[in-house]
Amino acid sequence: MTPARTDVAVVGAGIVGCMVAREITARIPDASVVLLDRDTVGTGASRRSAGLHCPRGSTERVRRMARYSQDYYGELKAGAPGLPIHEVPMSVVASPASAPRLREVYLDSAELTRTDHLPDRAPSGHPGGPGNPGDPAHPGHPGIRFPEDAEIWDCQGAQYADVYALVQELTRELRPRATLRECVRVDAVNTVGHNGRDTGDVELRLGTGETLTAGRVVLAPGPWLAAPAWRGLVAPLGARVKKVVALHIEQVPDRGDRAVVFQDEDAFLLPLHALGHWLFSYTCTTWDVDPDEMVDGLSPHDVDEARGSLRRHAPELAERGVSGRVFCDAYSPTGEPEVRALEDGRVVFAGAANGSGYRLAPAIAAEAADLLHLPPKPPHTMEKQRSQS
Ligand SMILES: Cc1cc2nc3c(=O)[nH]c(=O)nc-3n(C[C@H](O)[C@H](O)[C@H](O)COP(=O)(O)OP(=O)(O)OC[C@H]3O[C@@H](n4cnc5c(N)ncnc54)[C@H](O)[C@@H]3O)c2cc1C
Repeated sequence: MTPARTDVAVVGAGIVGCMVAREITARIPDASVVLLDRDTVGTGASRRSAGLHCPRGSTERVRRMARYSQDYYGELKAGAPGLPIHEVPMSVVASPASAPRLREVYLDSAELTRTDHLPDRAPSGHPGGPGNPGDPAHPGHPGIRFPEDAEIWDCQGAQYADVYALVQELTRELRPRATLRECVRVDAVNTVGHNGRDTGDVELRLGTGETLTAGRVVLAPGPWLAAPAWRGLVAPLGARVKKVVALHIEQVPDRGDRAVVFQDEDAFLLPLHALGHWLFSYTCTTWDVDPDEMVDGLSPHDVDEARGSLRRHAPELAERGVSGRVFCDAYSPTGEPEVRALEDGRVVFAGAANGSGYRLAPAIAAEAADLLHLPPKPPHTMEKQRSQS
């Protein structure tokens, strides 16, 4: 049974909403928390995420968030080694002009080290030497070419996750401490009750016909910024929704293959060992899309744009990019995630992480919980949470 009143309602059970619910139950184990999603958990942007964590941030706040989240995921993985979070070696390719910026945005813990080539892969039975700037492609690091003057940097601390599977794991852990309401849409968020009185609570009208009263509400709607229930509330944030496209490249990654980030283009190649293919992410520039309309897969324009971008780095691979993942994400005007108190602080918005919602989710959750004025005591590991339940 869902209580008619809860201390905190978290709306949206993607990676951000799950982390928020986890943070709240960790800080106040006896708080009542309801986590609602109009779909099953993790099926929004989180399901399509490439899930790469690069240890970097464009501003001091984002670097702080990246550092915090990297530690959080590290402790989570240490406490539950079976979680679908995988360390991956990573190189960053940049023009010489980008070097100062590179040193600024990457965390100290990334230990950026200049190398002349992509380091050799672990022996695996497949021949392949290092890829040198200007050299023709080699079969390792699969066919990647660099401009003559490109600088290549080795970077520590990268990881990637199967974000959908991670959300399933996190919600499995949450169930004893929070009430999950899947396929329950929130249709209205009102600070004034249906009887016209302001009781200090927030009323959520649900698609099931129920009304849930909450002391505090966290909105973690991913790209559903324009949902009728909160469109007016979140409009002042100025966040927008951009299409995000990644190509799947039908080539099996080899053991030791590394992620390669093309700094100047904001693109990356990621070996998805668990899935048996590579992924190429590039900067798509289609704005103001509707997540409910992102159902038709790759368009001819997407394929042209993605392959065009990939051809510059790995021409042989471009033609093998025959499938992909297509969705969208919320972007803030500042380039930093939005974690903001709305409606006298009774409602908190958490998201708009600019295509970095996986890697920054733990820090977004901590900031959201701070705004709810809950005691700051986040035990990171699943083991610690388990032992409290
Ligand atoms: C192709 C792609 C690649 C990406 N790659 C990366 C990457 O490499 N690294 C990285 O860090 N990030 C990446 N991202 C971004 C990242 O996936 C998102 O920022 C993150 O998943 C957002 O999580 P969220 O919980 O805010 O949103 P979501 O996962 O979208 O969750 C929001 C939830 O709200 C629910 N909801 C909506 N409306 C209602 C309603 N009315 N009532 C109840 N529930 C509702 C939805 O059903 C949904 O489950 C990528 C995104 C895409 C699309």
